[in-house]
Amino acid sequence: MRCSLCHQELSINLSVIELFFPPIKCCRTCRQKFTRIKRTQACLGCGRAQAQTKLCSDCQNWKTLYPQLLANRALYLYDAALKDWMQQYKFYGDYQLRFTFAAELKQALADYQGYLICPISLADERFATRGFNQVTEMLRAARVSYSELLERKTIAQPQSKKNRHERLLLPQPFSLAVPSEKIKNKKVLLVDDVYTTGRTLFHAAEIFWENDAEVVQSLTLAR
Ligand SMILES: [Zn+2]
Ligand SMILES: [Zn+2]
Repeated sequence: MRCSLCHQELSINLSVIELFFPPIKCCRTCRQKFTRIKRTQACLGCGRAQAQTKLCSDCQNWKTLYPQLLANRALYLYDAALKDWMQQYKFYGDYQLRFTFAAELKQALADYQGYLICPISLADERFATRGFNQVTEMLRAARVSYSELLERKTIAQPQSKKNRHERLLLPQPFSLAVPSEKIKNKKVLLVDDVYTTGRTLFHAAEIFWENDAEVVQSLTLAR
């Protein structure tokens, strides 16, 4: 078995346990390039790395729009190493990379027992160019069951081409893909790759809050 990132033989620096439980497909050297965010040193709202857990200024702004807290948990810092990885996975479509964080994702999701795990769906045209949804593929690689509870209303211009201000003003892109009763009084965990402005996640959460979900939280690979 080879590392999904550097393609070195994995057994060189992984123990048997690491190799087979759960499916780690990223060697130690590659994993060390990424920086984990400690939960005790992250904003309670968006999960950004900071000295204390109190709400950052971005989250205080969101609070004026949404009284609920997303309590986003971000696993990694969105630094140069993770941006490189994302570039290779999302934009060059290196499908093998869906395994890179499978073990970490599975471990993090174990804290959300009883939640409906809902990946953020891509706009159709983006799905068509890439051929796969990077978030659902990562969940599948981690062997986590999920429900696609949201669908995109319209084909929107990719968010990455907009500046921060334009992104914050975007209209609601989602609608509920399942009957409202499936959501009522349920706990929902949204999963996305990166928490950037929070706009996409809050739009998604809004759909569930409007449909009487009991709790809506989110988890992202990076922040
Ligand atoms: Zn490697
Ligand atoms: Zn925050």
